[in-house]
Amino acid sequence: MSCDLDIAKCFDFATELVLQAGKILKSGEDEQIIYKKNKEDFVTNYDQQIEKLFIDGLAKEFPDHRIIAEETVFTMQKMPELTDAPTWFLDPIDGTINFMHSLPYFCISIALMVRKEFVLGIIYNPSNSEFYSAIKGKGAFLNGKPIHVSNITDLKQAMIGSDVSIIKYVKKDKDIYTAKLIALIEATQTIRCIGSAALSMAYLARGIIDVLHADGVLKPWDIAAGTLLIREAGGTVIDSKGGIYDIMKANITAAANESLTREIFKINIDTDLKRKEKDSKNLTQGNK
Ligand SMILES: [Mg+2]
Repeated sequence: MSCDLDIAKCFDFATELVLQAGKILKSGEDEQIIYKKNKEDFVTNYDQQIEKLFIDGLAKEFPDHRIIAEETVFTMQKMPELTDAPTWFLDPIDGTINFMHSLPYFCISIALMVRKEFVLGIIYNPSNSEFYSAIKGKGAFLNGKPIHVSNITDLKQAMIGSDVSIIKYVKKDKDIYTAKLIALIEATQTIRCIGSAALSMAYLARGIIDVLHADGVLKPWDIAAGTLLIREAGGTVIDSKGGIYDIMKANITAAANESLTREIFKINIDTDLKRKEKDSKNLTQGNK
């Protein structure tokens, strides 16, 4: 990709904003104002304050860049189209419900795409000072030290990350979503719910979690930085439905290696097929 953008400058600028945002988050856990966005989603004054910090800062420094940020998209009620222009993806707090409960697993997640390719990603959990970063082609890092995905090859030894509480909010095909989750839990050693997609992806990149799967529940800003981080750490991120990876659809299967990714993908597809067979059987019996 030919790119005349100074990526190192973008990275340094984003780092500065992320660290400032981290200070805001650390300082304010006791003074939260919580608003309900809808049945399943919340926003706090800190999400809004941090998003403003980034939007003002980025707009001033890079006036021709675009920003796709969680709270702005919610306010506009419209997802912008992704273009070839440099585009920042921002989640001011990923894991807002954890933040609301003072469970120290929440983070700021930001990534930059140029011509629809990731060039940098940062995930920062200020509670325990974990600063994950990646620049395309230069590896993935935690607090400046290189990180790598796990070397697990047997799915039965793998830890899968997912958010099971999502089940209660899935509107369409709730039972198939549940069936897939059960199949994934049965195929792996255990499941852990971190409550932050971005941090879960950082843990996969770091070799703690081995597999992740989510479709129909995530948004671009949840997975942008994590996707680059995992790929730069040697892992695989694909579209969970078998299409070309599309940040704007945000359906992902990710794992420490391609073989695990394919296994998870197969479980997903097989569960769909079984469900279709069951449906057509029920339909045939119903017609008798
Ligand atoms: Mg958020």
